[in-house]
Amino acid sequence: MINAQYKEMLKGKSVIRQLSEFATKRGQEIGYENVFDYSLGNPSVPVPKEFNDGLTEMIGTLSSMELHGYSPSVGIASVKDAIAESLNRRFGMNYTGNHIFPTTGAAGAIAHALRCVTEPGDEVITFAPFFPEYNPYVSGTGAVLKVVPADTESFQINFEAFDEIMNENTAAVLINTPNNPSGIVYSTETITRLADYLYKKEQEYGHDIFLISDEPYREIIFAGADSPYVSKFYDNTLSCYSYSKSLSLPGERIGYVAANPKCTDAELISVICSQISRGTGHNCPSSMMQLGVARVLDLTSDMSVYETNMNILYRELTALGFEVVKPGGTFYIFPKALEEDAVAFCNKAKDYDLILVPSDSFGVKGYFRMAYCIDTEKVERSIPALRRFVKEVYGRS
Ligand code: PLP
Repeated sequence: MINAQYKEMLKGKSVIRQLSEFATKRGQEIGYENVFDYSLGNPSVPVPKEFNDGLTEMIGTLSSMELHGYSPSVGIASVKDAIAESLNRRFGMNYTGNHIFPTTGAAGAIAHALRCVTEPGDEVITFAPFFPEYNPYVSGTGAVLKVVPADTESFQINFEAFDEIMNENTAAVLINTPNNPSGIVYSTETITRLADYLYKKEQEYGHDIFLISDEPYREIIFAGADSPYVSKFYDNTLSCYSYSKSLSLPGERIGYVAANPKCTDAELISVICSQISRGTGHNCPSSMMQLGVARVLDLTSDMSVYETNMNILYRELTALGFEVVKPGGTFYIFPKALEEDAVAFCNKAKDYDLILVPSDSFGVKGYFRMAYCIDTEKVERSIPALRRFVKEVYGRS
């Protein structure tokens, strides 16, 4: 018999994917260059030249087994050591290779981290607005996702609402900073307060509460933003990283879990993850990708276009009277829609070939997300369409 749970999931198809498919179809009619597609967080800048050069050199020099053979189930030791050294150098941490578990992107990292620290029936708390894929990531483990309503003034953590949801069944707290969809970076003050609160609750409940820190946008930080390294603040932290955004490698599926050396069973996390992989059938990423990223750990793509695009959109949106919190990183912006129903707002925008994502699936009503990982030239060409849309539909100019 076909599994009923997964069959049911077909009904809840990703809104973002549907909008992206709509944009592609519309592009076939009017030319994709005329569709202002702000739907998908697919990095638009090329990988660094050094990454491609490294792959070419590896193909010319390494053996077939080294390049294409099975990776050890806990990942390639030299790669894990190199990642640990890079994190220690950049963030003043104390990792060894044993604390690092290579994964298929941040999705794979979160899937392993969640299974590592929860039992079916446990609760995992996250904060709106949140990446909608947290729903299947958590439900797939048998744990239950609880969502803390957003602080829409700042999109930092709403601690009062958090305190109402926290209880002794909470096994993990899942945060994402810099945040998709708001673009907000949690400040040092927020992370410090979060850590203090979690230490207090661990004491009160007498058990671990793990902080799973989803950080695929860690390197996309704009001028002036405060960007603390989360794990420095709280020992029971599992950092989930991805090279999808920082090296523009989403299709290669490569990232890692980094267990804070002071967390409970720190030396076991990576080996436990390799046992989790056996059950999910989702073992380590390709050997070639592990070796490839290990050569460019301190590099990123040239991501300056994202900040340029953010500044153009932020200026224009505020000039048009949108309420919007200025992003500190990522390639997302999350303004308040001009009517309560964000789905209706985004549907109307489609008539102007503006593809915007309504906020409902991010756990907030009445907002919309723009993923501006597109060419600046296209962002600039979208501005007249945006102006016409708000003027003709909402009488604003
Ligand atoms: N977490 C967040 C907040 C994301 O935005 C994404 C992808 O867009 C992921 C996790 C998954 O990242 P990856 O593609 O590296 O699996």
